[in-house]
Amino acid sequence: MSIEESIQCPCGTIISDPKQYKIVFLRREAFEIDILCPNDLCYLKELGYVKFKVNDDNSIKLIKAEFNTPFVTWNSSRIGYEKTSEELKKHLKKIVLELIDWDKIKWYLTEKVSETKFEDISKK
Ligand SMILES: [Zn+2]
Repeated sequence: MSIEESIQCPCGTIISDPKQYKIVFLRREAFEIDILCPNDLCYLKELGYVKFKVNDDNSIKLIKAEFNTPFVTWNSSRIGYEKTSEELKKHLKKIVLELIDWDKIKWYLTEKVSETKFEDISKK
C-alpha cells in the first residue's frame, strides 16, 4: 500500500501498521485501553479506545473498540470514507486479536499494580 493510501494521524504520522500505535492501559477502573499515536509530540495523542469487561469466570468480554471521530474524519477526507473504515476496521481487529496482551491486562487487574506508571500492554 502506498503512503498516500495509508492511515495517517492528523499530526502527520503515517500509520501503515497497527503495531506502530502505543497501546496503554491507564484507565483501569474504567476497563478502557487507549490507542495512542506513535508520535510523542502528537497534539491529539488518543486516537481510539477498546472497552471491555471482566466476567465472573475471569474471562474478558469486549464491549467496544473504535477510533475517535477527529482521526476518522481526517482520514476520510484524505482517502475516502470507505477506504478509511475498511483500513481502520483491520487495525482494530489486529489490535484486539493480536496486539493487546490480555493476560497482562488480567494480571494488572488482579495485582492492583501502581496506577501511576505508563502501562504498555501490547505484546512485545
Ligand atoms: Zn499523531
